[in-house]
Amino acid sequence: MMGLSNLEVEKRLKKYGYNELKEKKKVTWIKILLRQFSNILVWILFAASVISVFIGEILNFWVIIFVLFFIVILGFIQEYKAEKAMESLKKIVQPTAKVIREGKIRKIPSKEVVPGDLLVLEMGDKIPADAKVIEVINLKVDEAILTGESKPIVKKKDDLIFAGTQIVHGKCKALVIATGMQTKLGKIAGMIQEVEEKTPLQKKITKLGKILALIALIACVVIFIFGVFEEVPIVEMLMVALALAVAAVPEGLPLALTLTLSLGMHRMAKQNAIIRKLLAVETLGSVTVICADKTGTITKNEMTVEKIFVDDKIFDVTGVGYEPKGEFFVDGRKVDVYKEKNLILLLKSVVLCNNAVLEEKEGKWGIIGDPTEGALIVVGTKANLWKEDLEKEYPRVGEVIFTSERKMMTTIHKKGEEILVFSKGAPEIILKKCKFIKKKDKIEEFSEDEKVKILEINKDFARSAFRVLGVAYKKASELTPENIEEDLVFLGLVAMIDPPREEVGKAIEACKKGKIRVIMVTGDNEETAKAIGKKIGLFEENKKIKTKIKNEKLKKFLEDGVVTGSELNKLSNDELESIVEDIVVYARVVPEQKLRIVNALKKKGHIVAMTGDGVNDAPALKNADIGIAMGVKGTDVAREASDMILQDDNFSTIVEAIKNGRAIYENIEKFTCYLISRNFTEVILIGLGIILLGFEFLPLLPLQILFINTFDEEMPAIALGLDPAREEIMNKPPRKVGQGILTKRNSFLVFSLALFMATVAFLIFITSNPTIGIEKARTMVFATIVGMVIFNTFNFRSLDESIFKIGIFANKLLILAVVVISLTTLCVMYIPFLQRIFEFTPLNLKEWIICLVGAFSTFVFMEVIKLFMRNKKTNPPIP
Ligand code: ATP
Repeated sequence: MMGLSNLEVEKRLKKYGYNELKEKKKVTWIKILLRQFSNILVWILFAASVISVFIGEILNFWVIIFVLFFIVILGFIQEYKAEKAMESLKKIVQPTAKVIREGKIRKIPSKEVVPGDLLVLEMGDKIPADAKVIEVINLKVDEAILTGESKPIVKKKDDLIFAGTQIVHGKCKALVIATGMQTKLGKIAGMIQEVEEKTPLQKKITKLGKILALIALIACVVIFIFGVFEEVPIVEMLMVALALAVAAVPEGLPLALTLTLSLGMHRMAKQNAIIRKLLAVETLGSVTVICADKTGTITKNEMTVEKIFVDDKIFDVTGVGYEPKGEFFVDGRKVDVYKEKNLILLLKSVVLCNNAVLEEKEGKWGIIGDPTEGALIVVGTKANLWKEDLEKEYPRVGEVIFTSERKMMTTIHKKGEEILVFSKGAPEIILKKCKFIKKKDKIEEFSEDEKVKILEINKDFARSAFRVLGVAYKKASELTPENIEEDLVFLGLVAMIDPPREEVGKAIEACKKGKIRVIMVTGDNEETAKAIGKKIGLFEENKKIKTKIKNEKLKKFLEDGVVTGSELNKLSNDELESIVEDIVVYARVVPEQKLRIVNALKKKGHIVAMTGDGVNDAPALKNADIGIAMGVKGTDVAREASDMILQDDNFSTIVEAIKNGRAIYENIEKFTCYLISRNFTEVILIGLGIILLGFEFLPLLPLQILFINTFDEEMPAIALGLDPAREEIMNKPPRKVGQGILTKRNSFLVFSLALFMATVAFLIFITSNPTIGIEKARTMVFATIVGMVIFNTFNFRSLDESIFKIGIFANKLLILAVVVISLTTLCVMYIPFLQRIFEFTPLNLKEWIICLVGAFSTFVFMEVIKLFMRNKKTNPPIP
């Protein structure tokens, strides 16, 4: 099968367009702009501008209109940026498809598939276009997305398969008949647009914003009533009330939240963790257990065959990586492989029973397909057995596919009239299928004793962290579907190394500090898993067993920390729950069992992150709090069921993502507290002024408040939102799920600080003789408050650590914010035109010193409060 030529593809792309669905609900810039008018502050300001016109304050009117304009534009820019960040995230996870073009298998972006393309599809793939099946092995397709039917449909040759549906079993080749909007899915595309719900955190923050707005409203009403008693002119009172409203509404909150989340996700994507669901960002910070696959996640998935057991001998194989260069040794002596007939037969078997392709590109050898199979092809070529040549000699006529459940794979070949069957798979599974064993030139009955001996050799290999496969074959004259894998002849064992990734040890260390448990869940052998687990520090020395248990059977599991799939089958759910917190390795498990493990952990109150790659991992991924799919070796089905995709399949990326998740949440906590504290400061200050001195002596004028809240609020909040993750963040235990931002501890911090700042500012106000020079007193309050804002941007870089510990200059954006705030403040205070609008007078050195000392006092106060709270160490959430 040759497939289309490149030229033809180009023509067809022009004619039919890209294979993509038109998005109906694209967010346009107009929509984003209009969304800005749902901001309550915009309407408050609008009301203020109307009032200004009424009372003849035309200058005020223009200032307010300018501020209004500024807020809308700023909001627009930020949201646009957030939207773009999200869009580019979506682009990173563009799906790919395998097609045959010009006689070769190629992996291309799904959107480049054209009618007439030959698709190569296998278990776990999402079908990229409507197509007609032309070659098929046990194909089952899940068409629920189109028909609602949840049972997989069996597809035969000449049946149609449809874009968007998924292959849950078998494989096929299919000819594309329709792409893009011409597909069945395209025709109903509008109906299945995904909508992302707001996450609990977003909901909580929106609610918080509303509560604060309500408090502001109540304050306004109270002041209004107060004013009526004092017989203050109604318009003046309205202005004050509006100024208060501006002060109290934390308008920066939702925007800073959106931006922090979207840019945070972007940052994580750059580090290879793609968040598919926004909710995952906040859940990540609460993860208490990571259940990780071994092969490819904890290990490198770069397999090299190092040992082969055949004919009662162990052959050592040299060479590294996928380069087909190496030699065979027995007991240190080089052997001539051609004299070792059974070794050659074994190597032929593993090269033929194989779907990987070895390729040389620019002088570098690599494989397309499963690395386990790649390693087998490579070891074959070391004996000069090339797959292409062998396949010509023994054409393949059938295959029983590999699945994680079966743990083996078989291919059927023909040579003349002779039918040959080659199988490879987990040794214990292969052994069960073998009735004979090949020794020298003879085929002997395979005794149980011999099987036990071979299992021992397998165990020895596995204990040295080798991944071992058993190999078998048979010659047959007639085959039925039932007897293909029966009565096989055992050939030997192949042991390959798959070293742990270098970074994994460190990542596990970080997890230990961060009170996150790591569990290895693997389809591989128990001994191999244990050996790898020991290498990376999964097993604690002198481990203290948490669970107290009398049952002897269960005790053994607790001591070992290991449970195998078959043992797991024998445990009831209750039994599993009773030991689940002490098990470190689950070996030889099938994907379905992952779901039980997730459920047991969840029942114990854990927040579980679980990795997976296959079709049958999907239920566990969906059920886990964070389902993590592999970007490289994962199937489309697993990716769609996941909350996060690891672009590099690497375990350490999960830990890094958790660190980022914790940091993002902490940042949100920081800027929320920051914004609330400053807003309340202004409310308390105005309240104090009105109650103690009356309306005439407001400590700040509405326009002045407006200035502080529009120009000095957003930038520090965003800078705090983007504060880089600190290593120390992994030294804390995971955050409790559902814990709100305003915990008792945070509320205490925020409100005590607001009270302190307002009191200091008020004291500065009354000590600067407002009755004689109200303008000067207000200027001093203004300068003090801005100074406090600046000190607070640093204070809030941590809600519990001292700033001296976390550093003053680490966040460049924060420094920029401070510079901008300082300059704009000096401008309004000293440029005569602005000075007049805002009713400021210049301050002398002594006055400046008073203001700066007042501002600095917040810094001292916050350090003291943090110290006090660090010693107290209580952080119970507000229910
Ligand atoms: P993990 O679950 O950590 O990714 P794994 O790759 O060993 O580990 P599976 O892919 O479920 O898990 O494989 C289970 C077992 O099946 C392997 O341990 C191996 O013995 C066998 N096996 C793996 N790949 C193949 C293959 N291509 N052909 C035949 N047998 C295989």
